[in-house]
Amino acid sequence: MNQARVIDCEEALRRLFEYLDAELHGDPQREMEQHLERCRSCFSRVEFEKRLKAYTAELRHEPVPPDVERRIRALLDTFKC
Ligand SMILES: [Zn+2]
Repeated sequence: MNQARVIDCEEALRRLFEYLDAELHGDPQREMEQHLERCRSCFSRVEFEKRLKAYTAELRHEPVPPDVERRIRALLDTFKC
């Protein structure tokens, strides 16, 4: 048996940014991936943060237009747990 500990959404969200920055390794990373396989809401949250991260990295040299910033904020609000 190679059953990793099952983590809950609260813990998954706590690890979210470490996971995105590839700072999780070994068991914590596996636990996170297992949670994401099962949990639709955390999975979409991770996908959203990934896209946001890529997007803000692209725009690093330009200021974010106010309407875009408003849209991002609105999107973030819909993901609040
Ligand atoms: Zn979850």
